[in-house]
Amino acid sequence: MIRRVVILFFLFFSFSYSMELKQFYKNMYMVRGVDDMPSVENKGFMSNAYAILTKEGWVVVDSLSTPELSKEFYDQLMKVKKAPIKYLIITHYHPDHWYGASTFKEKGATVIAHKKLNEFYNSPDSKMTLEASNQRFGGLYKNVRLIPADIEISDKKDIKVGEYDISIISMTPAHTNNDIVVLVKNENILFAGDLVYINRIPFAGDRGASSKNWLKVLKDMENLNPKIVLGGHNEPMDKSAIKFTYDYLHYIRETVKKMKEEGKSIDEIKSYINQNSPYKNYVMYNVFNDANVYKIYNDLDMEDFE
Ligand SMILES: [Zn+2]
Repeated sequence: MIRRVVILFFLFFSFSYSMELKQFYKNMYMVRGVDDMPSVENKGFMSNAYAILTKEGWVVVDSLSTPELSKEFYDQLMKVKKAPIKYLIITHYHPDHWYGASTFKEKGATVIAHKKLNEFYNSPDSKMTLEASNQRFGGLYKNVRLIPADIEISDKKDIKVGEYDISIISMTPAHTNNDIVVLVKNENILFAGDLVYINRIPFAGDRGASSKNWLKVLKDMENLNPKIVLGGHNEPMDKSAIKFTYDYLHYIRETVKKMKEEGKSIDEIKSYINQNSPYKNYVMYNVFNDANVYKIYNDLDMEDFE
């Protein structure tokens, strides 16, 4: 009997999720997704989204994986304060940051993203990726409507919203070819998208990713000297997370580079790293590490010609 109750308990929790809006700083709110791949069970709630309440209305950073999730996020924001959604800023084109955008667009938000997100939106790849992801994840994305940026970022843009001075800065290529970060200058708070992690393995396998330039932009972010760093997949972090991310990418790059020079094959390198990596007990290691090694192995070939 007890065993049956325990099984039911686990079934209940593995087939449900709860989205809890948390205030992490004055006027700033977040929802925290689970550390996992998207699934029908978790409804794709495996990334964070953020919102800043200004005197003019809300500024939202990232829009979760689906219109259903972003609607739930929106409803929770409206319980805090019924105010217009002024801006939706999309840190990059991955589904868990972009695919929920239609909710905020319908509420009148001006959408801001990197210029290269719009290039992707305008290419046939955007629809093909959506369809393939929808098939792969059991219809999870069936209601997604892709939304382009109204304002394109190619370098840097400053906006003032209510009492906040906000810089939106291109930091690309790094995790993708269209990463932007959002710096709230009054408070020195940095929304870093998927560029910064703590105790979790970054995903560096996107075809537009550049581990070499990612290391460079991490230094740029360190120089911004943020008080709090908000990422796509962690609790609020401090500057030490920038170092964690740097050290992981640097370790993989240096290990792959050295073994490649010794003439080792990709499989030998993967297996060496899987035995010796100091990072193998961190969250998402099994999901992302091999893909990262593979991408960095190929990138190093290209960099040889630079
Ligand atoms: Zn991402």
